[in-house]
Amino acid sequence: MAVGEPLIELHGVNKHFGALHVLRDIELTVGRGEVVVIIGPSGGGKSTLIRTINRLETVQSGSIVVDGRPLPAEGKELARLRAEVGMVFQSFNLFAHRTVVANVMLGQTKVRRRGKQDAERRALELLDRVGLADQAGKFPAQLSGGQQQRVAIARALAMDPQVMLFDEPTSALDPEMINEVLEVMRQLAQEGMTMVVVTHEMGFARSAANRVVFMADGRIVEDRPPEEFFSAPESERAKDFLSKIL
Ligand code: ADP
Ligand code: MG
Repeated sequence: MAVGEPLIELHGVNKHFGALHVLRDIELTVGRGEVVVIIGPSGGGKSTLIRTINRLETVQSGSIVVDGRPLPAEGKELARLRAEVGMVFQSFNLFAHRTVVANVMLGQTKVRRRGKQDAERRALELLDRVGLADQAGKFPAQLSGGQQQRVAIARALAMDPQVMLFDEPTSALDPEMINEVLEVMRQLAQEGMTMVVVTHEMGFARSAANRVVFMADGRIVEDRPPEEFFSAPESERAKDFLSKIL
C-alpha cells in the first residue's frame, strides 16, 4: 500500500503532568494509508502520545496538525475533527444496556446525524465486516471479550474516520481471542486505513506496520521499518526492551 501525504503531523510536542515531563520534543508524521505501530516500556508515554492526536490530552507546547488543519482547542471544530479520528481502547466501553447494533448506531445518529435506517444499515454492514453479523441483537455482556472489542472497532469505523488509533486493543483479552481482533486490524490495514497502534503484539508489528516507533521516557527513540527495527535495533533502550519481550 503506497503511503500518501501527511495526515497527522506532530512537531515539537511537549506534555507535562505536573512535574512529570511525559512527552519530550515529539516529531511524528503519519502518512495517509500508513500503519504506525508504537512500542516501548510501560510508562514511556505511548498512551499519552496517541491521546494528544484527538485532544483527549492537551499539550504545553508544539503543534498537532490533522488533515492539514491545526488541532482546534475546543468547540464545534474540535468535535468535527474528533469524528475523523476513531479510537479503540483496551477496555471496550460499550453501552451495557444497548444491543450490539444500537452501540454501533449511536455515534452515527448523534454525531454524523444519520437517519436511523441509514445508521442501522451501516452498522449491520460493519458488524458483518468484523465477523459479527449474527450477534447484532445481543447485549455486550452476552459476547466474549474478543467479540466486544470487534464491536468497538465497528463502532469507531461507523463514523467513517480518516484514521484509527488503537491503544493496546488486545491487552485485556484472553490469549485465544487476540488473533480474531488482530485479524480485523490486519484487514483494515490492507484496505488502506491509516492506523496508529500501540501494542505489545510484535507479530502484528512485523507483519502489518510500515513503521515501528519505539518510545521510552517520553521520547521517540527509534522510528524505522519493522524489518530494520527488529533485526538491528540501534539504541540500547530498544535492544534491552526487545531482549525482555522476544
Ligand atoms: P504508556 O502508555 O507508555 O504506558 P502513559 O502515556 O500512560 O505511558 O504514561 C506516561 C507517564 O505519564 C507515566 O509516568 C504515567 O504515570 C503518567 N501519566 C499518565 N496519565 C497521567 C495523568 N492523567 N496524570 C498524571 N500522570 C499521568
Ligand atoms: Mg499505555
